[in-house]
Amino acid sequence: MDTTSTARRLARLRAIMAAMELDAFVTSQPQNMRYLSGFTGGDGVVIVSAESAVLATDFRYYEQVEREAPAFALAKVTGAIPPVLASVLGDMRARKVGFEAHAVTVETFEQWMVAAPDATWALTTDLVEGLRQEKDAEELAAIEEAVRIADEAMVHLMEWIKPGVTERQAAWEAEVYMRTHGAEALSFTSIIASGEHGAMAHAVTTDRVIAPGDPLVIDMGCVYNGYCSDLTRSFCVGEASDEYLRIWNTVLEAQEAAEEAIYGGMPGVDADAVARKIIYDAGFEGKFGHGLGHGVGLAIHEKPRASMTSTDILTPGTIITVEPGIYIPGWCGVRTEDMVLVTEDGRRVLTTSPKRPTI
Ligand code: ZN
Ligand code: ZN
Repeated sequence: MDTTSTARRLARLRAIMAAMELDAFVTSQPQNMRYLSGFTGGDGVVIVSAESAVLATDFRYYEQVEREAPAFALAKVTGAIPPVLASVLGDMRARKVGFEAHAVTVETFEQWMVAAPDATWALTTDLVEGLRQEKDAEELAAIEEAVRIADEAMVHLMEWIKPGVTERQAAWEAEVYMRTHGAEALSFTSIIASGEHGAMAHAVTTDRVIAPGDPLVIDMGCVYNGYCSDLTRSFCVGEASDEYLRIWNTVLEAQEAAEEAIYGGMPGVDADAVARKIIYDAGFEGKFGHGLGHGVGLAIHEKPRASMTSTDILTPGTIITVEPGIYIPGWCGVRTEDMVLVTEDGRRVLTTSPKRPTI
């Protein structure tokens, strides 16, 4: 990672640490370690104070730390991590130490407390995750590439899928396409849900054979330079019934309205309400059982949320999915999902996959 990104991210973290009167902050959460330092190894501990930034890890990663995290001092771990962590905190003269309530196991925390008995441990929640919400240029470039690869794969699948292939074959076709067109991984196991399987928002891909006229829900994404994409399209393979078209058009209308409404500073709950009203007014109350969208970045689901209960704000620089859906048990589901960059005065839709009710 380039050192100006690291410096900017550390400065933002340190401002929060100062406000919370933390002498040091410790993270062992792999994506948070990567975000702050650039280190992709995932195993170790990052320790930040007002003056220094240290990465403690073992011999497998010594070279990698030098290459990926040049702004961080390497603390070599030859046995267990806790004594090394304690010694780094001692060097920093850190008394009040913030750690991640949502990421550290009780067992690990007890080992840290035993190793550094003089520290006052302060629980924090989603501190780095909060920083990660607003993407910088380097992150946005990676996300745009992950989106582009998934879009290309979707276009390919819409050509490739024919009656007679199974959900699993289609999932494999999508995976091979993305992996051979620049993706380093899938951002999650692809969902290819045909017929009544589509009524389950997080359906499991099966050996079900796709039949003529089947409605499909395809939800997939990939990882590029550590960053995820997330994309859903729904369509019928062949003819679509009038009722399917009515559902499909309602979902599209809800998505377009929400996308047009989004602006920097919008409460996530308000974005959700725009789409929800359209779906409920069309007679589908109770058929849109999930939130409108979620942040995407190093993690496939991250802050913020746009849902009925969200208290998050869609700040400029946020990446959020807009993915309304209607699910009719026993028959079908329709969901369409774009990734959207929230800007100062509006939003930019990153996803370009075609939206068609039939293929
Ligand atoms: Zn998705
Ligand atoms: Zn999603």
